[in-house]
Amino acid sequence: MRLVPSVQQLETEMTAWRRHLHANPELGFEEFETARFVADKLRSWGIETTEGVGRTGVVGTLRGRLGAGRSLSIRADMDALPMTEARPLPHASRVPGRMHGCGHDGHTTMLLGAASALVRSPDFAGTVHFIFQPAEEGRGGALAMLDEGLFQRFPCDEVYALHNCERPLGEIAVHRGTVAAAADRFEIVVHGRGGHAATPHLAINPLPIAARILLAIEALPGRLTDVHAPATVTVGSLRAGEAFNTIPDTAFLTGTVRTFDHQVQKTLETAIRRIAKNEAEAFGASVDILYETPFAPTINTPAQADAMIAIANEVMGPERLVVDPPPEMGSEDFCYMLEQRPGCYFLLGQADDAHQAAAHDTNYDFNDAILPIGASLWVRLVERRLSARGAS
Ligand SMILES: [Zn+2]
Ligand SMILES: [Zn+2]
Repeated sequence: MRLVPSVQQLETEMTAWRRHLHANPELGFEEFETARFVADKLRSWGIETTEGVGRTGVVGTLRGRLGAGRSLSIRADMDALPMTEARPLPHASRVPGRMHGCGHDGHTTMLLGAASALVRSPDFAGTVHFIFQPAEEGRGGALAMLDEGLFQRFPCDEVYALHNCERPLGEIAVHRGTVAAAADRFEIVVHGRGGHAATPHLAINPLPIAARILLAIEALPGRLTDVHAPATVTVGSLRAGEAFNTIPDTAFLTGTVRTFDHQVQKTLETAIRRIAKNEAEAFGASVDILYETPFAPTINTPAQADAMIAIANEVMGPERLVVDPPPEMGSEDFCYMLEQRPGCYFLLGQADDAHQAAAHDTNYDFNDAILPIGASLWVRLVERRLSARGAS
């Protein structure tokens, strides 16, 4: 392990920042105190700081002392979750029903640590932007920043992010392609016409229509899409009717589609819409369809993944590196930044005896032992990718 010495010196300070953020969690787009904490730190180090990007987002901009060059962005998420912390830790949440249950307190701290180390020895050419993003947990923070011109106002050639994970402490997983799934959500309402169960010819029963739709769409993966492209369609709820001898007016289906590829995702959405509409019309009914895509697939570009692999090797050594493990079924809104710029999102293991709980578990806590690892990876990434000789 070859951590950056100036980052190691910050370990005590970073631990204090992380625990302060942990004790004071804020939900997506409500990160007012968190954003102020971040902005105050950046400004105190003389880093050009812009607040209010994507409502509560903050961007810090630092130029290297080796002259002009390329530009790189690193993103950390800042939001907490609406859940109650189970463990009575000294730094446990002071806000009932709010908890940093996904480690975004740690992500924010690692990026602050890297900024602090880089400002003292900015041995790189070009520009680095530190992106502190709000509202990652399904509330659209990445899109909010992008919609406000993140990459136009703070131009960059490539973008990076990390997430802590349940792998052993210090293990780094890098995917040279898809990292995480797209998670779509659909709601289908079948409008028939109610009536007496004894005279179904006078009614349009939405129930068998909903059943046909369910069976048809759950069978799509591996039939309409390539069996080698993983996909699942799951109907998680089906509701209709109240009495055994009555035909109801409507039936509801809701479910989710998980995919790892944009084309597969689009193919399934189109097919679900078409099947629902056609099945309903075939029997004289109609449908309303709500189809949402809060998370696209998270897909790394090979050159940036390879760059991250080289950095991980340099800082942690090959024995802590895992390349191309199976993609995660979870989702990540950094996907939208990766749709606009080449980049890499990687995973950093934090599990030890005291940190066994997974993210989103009420017993979870970010492991402060990985703060200097994450911050060192960011510092070396900036130095190597923005070296005066060009990207190495
Ligand atoms: Zn989360
Ligand atoms: Zn998270």
